[in-house]
Amino acid sequence: MSITERLAAIVGAGNLLTEAADLAPYLSEERGLFHGAALAVARPGSTAEVAAVVRLLAAEGVAVVPQGGNTGLCGGGVPAAGAVVVSTERLNRIRDVDAIDFTLTAEAGCVLATVQEAAAGAGCLFPLSLGAEGSCRIGGNLSTNAGGVNVLRYGNTRDLVLGLEVVLPDGRVWNGLKRLRKDNAGYDLKQLFIGAEGTLGIVTACVLKLFPRPQEVQTALVAIAEPEAAVVILARTRRASGDAVTACELVPRIGLELGLKHVPGVRDPFARPHPWYLLVELSSSRPGGLREALEGVLAEALDEGLAIDAVLAESGEQRKSLWRIREGVPEAQKKEGGSIKHDVAVAVSRVPELIARATAAVEAALPGVRVVAFGHLGDGNIHFNLTQPHGADKQTFLAEWERLNRVVHDIVVAMEGSISAEHGIGRLKRGELAHYKDAVDIDLMRRIKTALDPRGLMNPGKVVP
Ligand SMILES: Cc1cc2nc3c(=O)[nH]c(=O)nc-3n(C[C@H](O)[C@H](O)[C@H](O)COP(=O)(O)OP(=O)(O)OC[C@H]3O[C@@H](n4cnc5c(N)ncnc54)[C@H](O)[C@@H]3O)c2cc1C
Repeated sequence: MSITERLAAIVGAGNLLTEAADLAPYLSEERGLFHGAALAVARPGSTAEVAAVVRLLAAEGVAVVPQGGNTGLCGGGVPAAGAVVVSTERLNRIRDVDAIDFTLTAEAGCVLATVQEAAAGAGCLFPLSLGAEGSCRIGGNLSTNAGGVNVLRYGNTRDLVLGLEVVLPDGRVWNGLKRLRKDNAGYDLKQLFIGAEGTLGIVTACVLKLFPRPQEVQTALVAIAEPEAAVVILARTRRASGDAVTACELVPRIGLELGLKHVPGVRDPFARPHPWYLLVELSSSRPGGLREALEGVLAEALDEGLAIDAVLAESGEQRKSLWRIREGVPEAQKKEGGSIKHDVAVAVSRVPELIARATAAVEAALPGVRVVAFGHLGDGNIHFNLTQPHGADKQTFLAEWERLNRVVHDIVVAMEGSISAEHGIGRLKRGELAHYKDAVDIDLMRRIKTALDPRGLMNPGKVVP
């Protein structure tokens, strides 16, 4: 029997895709930067089926590429010719929700929004939240250690995991599906697989941490003259609210302008334009007090001239409308032409310096380039994105990708920052990782990869330089 016939025997003929039209959605990626090829896409329906698929492919020396919702932004899920994509989409059961332990056990292919809804159904919160939540899958979130808008309060995906189940590159199943809050019995192996972008094994299930559901949420959009004010307002709001700030996002004027031009539903709540906007959200499972705390900080900031203007959401609809401004930025940038992206992080207090230095450097390197620096100020994670100059040719602009990346990343690294804050490395940033990572880091990464995947069949060509 051929490999595809044997794969079909494991997952069922209907769950093995080999026709070009069926493969197509699994071969392209969100940004259109990479295009893949594959022998087949297998859609196993259980951990045992994933293990059998991986065992067969290991025996045949065939590369395996795990894929969840395929919303990743670094090409980590794009296969190369001859590989088999293992899609987790049929591993989609919520196995358990426990409102006493505050845990949720899910299979890797559960869509993030489904996990959030299952938690909410038990009166709990699963706080991971990001723009792709309607289509990304929890196994993909784990494998990219996704960040999103609530990291400031709840941490990255890594901080939200108690246990994992993983199919290893040789097809064995590692069962670390524990719901313990404390476990120092040896190495914390689950951490190896979180953020590994599918290079060390296929995550098949996880135990996630839940939290009490917020009963009060307060959201404000604050107009400011410069990012320095944002950092001060954030620190004051954290102190005044008993550390109840759950999100703190920065948007530049150009981000709002592009949204107004291209994205339905984006509105400017202020009477006149301002250079920067800070979206601050507070939440608590104990209602009362947050609004007063936020109003107090903002009144003081307005008195001092630290803030120019501010609006507080008076309803759920208004809150959504304020968030639409932030969420519309990447969508609007896409519609405005070519974008060269940087997903970078520095210490929160150094974000203003990063934006100033990197803006000056890219404007000198490419006159006319439009800087759209926005994102998770609360975590020091800025999407320092560049929109093509007015009237420029998109492809000519995109040809500058590596040169401009180097300009920005040199500054980030000089500021002891990260060249990949939340999107990972995948294929896109492998060269940059090799350039900037310390030799000891790279050596340790290669040793870990070789120890778990000596034949290099698990998502080859990704992450590890
Ligand atoms: C509109 C939009 C907004 C986004 N916002 C954010 C954001 O705010 N923060 C953020 O961090 N990311 C963000 N992302 C990026 C993306 O959504 C995340 O990286 C997400 O976690 C990927 O999940 P996925 O299921 O789509 O994974 P995929 O794209 O399918 O895969 C991503 C990587 O993980 C591997 N993988 C997938 N599933 C498994 C598994 N079960 N076991 C082992 N490896 C696996 C793949 O091989 C690949 O390397 C955004 C993307 C979009 C399109």
